[in-house]
Amino acid sequence: MCGKYICPRCGREVEFLIDGLCPKCYAEVKGPELIPNVIEAEVCRYCGAVKLGFKWIETEGNFESVIMKVVEHEIEKVAEKSNVISNIELKDAIFETEPNWTTRLVLVLTGTVRSERVEWKKPVTVRLNPSICPKCITKISGEYDTVVQLRGDLRPEVLEKDVIDLIEGNVIFNDLIDVIRHKEGVDVYFSHIGAARKFIKIILKKYEASWKGPYREVIGTDSSGKSRTRNTFVVRITSKK
Ligand SMILES: [Zn+2]
Ligand SMILES: [Zn+2]
Repeated sequence: MCGKYICPRCGREVEFLIDGLCPKCYAEVKGPELIPNVIEAEVCRYCGAVKLGFKWIETEGNFESVIMKVVEHEIEKVAEKSNVISNIELKDAIFETEPNWTTRLVLVLTGTVRSERVEWKKPVTVRLNPSICPKCITKISGEYDTVVQLRGDLRPEVLEKDVIDLIEGNVIFNDLIDVIRHKEGVDVYFSHIGAARKFIKIILKKYEASWKGPYREVIGTDSSGKSRTRNTFVVRITSKK
């Protein structure tokens, strides 16, 4: 192929230059600038939904699925804005760190510059910020059924972190409403007593602990005149196993 111009970056002869570069070099130099180095998004720490633009979108709940949703949304936004590189698509996403709240990955992107297929790489950091989606806010402000009070010698800060890790690293408890740290310990709220019992089992695997309950307390009557109760379990933790 004999072109009119020589690309100063790669030495290739081409019919035209864009911003002084051949299409391939243009994509390699300008492509990465289209996407920010850090992409941030709010994630519901109860159900794993992610906020993209104005909307909360459900995910599978694991970090990788959340991160991919965030990345795909960012690429859609870029594809709309970009006019020199068209048909921008994500070809691959290479995780450089374990998917977590902050994750580094390299995106491999493809597109078209004046009918030539181009490809470039873009390293990004995806930073997820723990938040609560409107659906879960409604749930939390609703009534809880059971509270598990974790007490003992461990510092509440340490305990709270452990509890959140257990929940997030393991399974998302649909019936978990909130985790609240006090001076005396950590209270974990559930919408269902069964979920609270499951949670206690998990705690007993991780810690040397004993538990008591449920203590029932009448908290009023519901609309049909039946008395409503709440359950409290107290788990005393002595040490980690
Ligand atoms: Zn070139
Ligand atoms: Zn949620």
